[in-house]
This record gives sequence, C-alpha cells and structure tokens, in this order.
Amino acid sequence: MHFAPLISGWSNRFTICTNGPDDLTDAQRQEIRRHQVPMYDSPIRSIDSNDGIVQQVVLNDGTIIPCRGIFFKPELVTGSDLPRAMGCDITETGMVVVDEFGKTNVPGVYSAGDAASRLYQAIAAAAMGAFTAAAINNELNMEAWGRSG
Ligand SMILES: Cc1cc2nc3c(=O)[nH]c(=O)nc-3n(C[C@H](O)[C@H](O)[C@H](O)COP(=O)(O)OP(=O)(O)OC[C@H]3O[C@@H](n4cnc5c(N)ncnc54)[C@H](O)[C@@H]3O)c2cc1C
Repeated sequence: MHFAPLISGWSNRFTICTNGPDDLTDAQRQEIRRHQVPMYDSPIRSIDSNDGIVQQVVLNDGTIIPCRGIFFKPELVTGSDLPRAMGCDITETGMVVVDEFGKTNVPGVYSAGDAASRLYQAIAAAAMGAFTAAAINNELNMEAWGRSG
C-alpha cells in the first residue's frame, strides 16, 4: 500500500494490480478510491513487451491495461544464515540488529548494508559500511593499544 503515495510523486496516471486476493483493509481501499487510482484484483495472465519495453498487462478476466512501465513489490529475503548461525539478534523481518556503528550483540561481529537495514539502496549500504568499517578499525586499534601498554 505504501507504494501508492510513493508512485503518485512520479506520475498521476498509474493503476494498481493486486494479482489476485490481497490483504488491503477497507480503509485502504477507500483511500485508493478517494485518490481515483484504478485497481484490478484479477490475477495477472501476462505482461507483454516489445523489444524489451513493456506494452501492456493482461489479466485473467480479459482486462488489458496498456502501460509504459511497471513497479512491483519483490519479496526480499536475507541471502545468508551466517549472522543467525553466529548468534546475532535478528528482527522479525530478518534484519540483523545493530547499533549506529553496525555492532551486533555478538562481541567482534558487525553487520552493515542490506543485511542490517531496510532501505535497500546502494549508497545507504555503502554509507553504513563506512561507519561500520570505522568502528571496526577503532575497536581493533583500541585492542592493540591495550595490549601494547
Ligand atoms: C533488482 C535490484 C535492483 C536494485 N536497484 C537499485 C538501484 O537502482 N539503486 C540502489 O541504490 N539500489 C538498488 N538495489 C539495492 C542494492 O543493490 C543494495 O542495496 C546493495 O547492493 C546492498 O549492498 P550490500 O553490500 O549490503 O549487499 P549485497 O550487494 O547483496 O552484497 C552482499 C554480498 O555478500 C555475499 N555473501 C552472502 N553470503 C555470504 C557468505 N556466507 N560468505 C561470503 N559472502 C557472502 C553475496 O554473494 C554478496 O556479494 C537493487 C537491488 C536489486 C535486487
């Protein structure tokens, strides 16, 4: 549902296809109607393209929706069980729990990027990685400093 306001910032002409039964609440349906966004709940039969450019979406009930682009909601899953296997706390949505410097609950284990954030953007992952790298470097230097003194 949060896609609708997001996409309305880019275009005032878009259609929602739920691809079959959905879990929208009555209030959310009313909200979509209020914004006059067309919505179809018939399952999608095909997405037709020409030279790699989408042309139309065809629904099982025969409806044809001409379009020039498609946004879809992917189901994102964590690519590795390593953090869980190492004993890191994981949120209900599968994210590694970290502090602002990428530190997990397991001493010496850090996490950054998509594994520990829900933003899923390269620049955000890189920024988080930079913070985390600085924190790791600091921890290693402090350890070495402590050993040598
Ligand atoms: C289809 C798609 C389109 C996207 N488009 C954009 C976009 O337009 N703009 C944007 O900013 N972001 C986009 N993103 C998101 C962006 O790709 C991610 O936010 C970013 O790559 C996250 O970087 P990361 O280093 O956290 O994770 P990843 O890039 O996923 O890197 C994790 C790496 O760890 C490796 N790995 C996993 N398990 C292990 C293991 N056990 N041992 C060793 N290595 C392991 C993986 O092979 C992978 O190479 C897109 C993502 C997808 C899937």
